[in-house]
Amino acid sequence: MPKPIYYTKNRLLRKPENFSDPQWIEQRLHDRNTRIIPVWRNRNLVLGHDSPTAITMSGDHGRGLLEIASQIALLGIDADETGSPTERAIFAVDVSQHELPDLSPIMGTAEFVDLRRVGVLMDAHEGSLLSHARGLMYWHRHNCFCSECGSPTVAEEAGRIRRCSNALCSRIHFPRTDPAVIMLVTRPGPDGGACLLGRHENFSVGMYSTLAGFVDQGETLEQAVTREVFEEAGILVDRVEYRASQPWPFPASLMLGFRARALTFTIDTGSDELEEAHWFTRDQIARFPDKGLRLSRKDSISYNLIKDWLDEDV
Ligand SMILES: [Zn+2]
Repeated sequence: MPKPIYYTKNRLLRKPENFSDPQWIEQRLHDRNTRIIPVWRNRNLVLGHDSPTAITMSGDHGRGLLEIASQIALLGIDADETGSPTERAIFAVDVSQHELPDLSPIMGTAEFVDLRRVGVLMDAHEGSLLSHARGLMYWHRHNCFCSECGSPTVAEEAGRIRRCSNALCSRIHFPRTDPAVIMLVTRPGPDGGACLLGRHENFSVGMYSTLAGFVDQGETLEQAVTREVFEEAGILVDRVEYRASQPWPFPASLMLGFRARALTFTIDTGSDELEEAHWFTRDQIARFPDKGLRLSRKDSISYNLIKDWLDEDV
């Protein structure tokens, strides 16, 4: 697969030895090496536009953040570029309950932005940390009540779990990620064949992407690929081969990337899922800009899957 696949360079040691010791967590929260990542309504705090950097805080700013946060969670212990643990603990905090003007003292000239707007321009590790922080804060915010009995839940173990506050239930809730398959379907033919790309009505104008969909209960990943391609485009496939994965916290998915070979070629987007789908040769894709068309966002694994196929020797 062509690199980079964005949001995949998280080096954190996620479960340090003392993570369930409240005293150790308290020490880490106030340690001068600790960095705290604020998340506001699914947005991350970033400074700059051309080379945006993630804003993390410590010291007085960090303490200020901890005081106004509705949720605090340990992401892990940072590692250096060789993978060796450092002294730096990384926490995420949720400040979504505040209105933006009230947060201006901690923001300075930085802005809370959608990570997808800036992810490809950021350092790969930083972008992955922000992705992690966003995903975990989203999970906390959407799991405040027990799915078993409806009672409030309380974060424990430095925010790694939530436990139901009803003593008769006490169910433990773990962070969840929804598996989704995303696949490039190819067919043989002149000029190296063609690949199947589609458009959802909510895509931006002119954008074409690989097909994708969530995995159903009782279904393998390969079956999910086969089913989604047939449901969305009426195409039968075989040779479903795994390529790579990508955390996709927009809001809570793990994208599992595949390549599949088409057995039938007549497209039928009869269902309401896709607005349109077409076979595109490499040459047609190369001329996308002339026609006002473009491929999926560069921070998506869809782009990697397509680029991988474009770069193959024909
Ligand atoms: Zn419960």
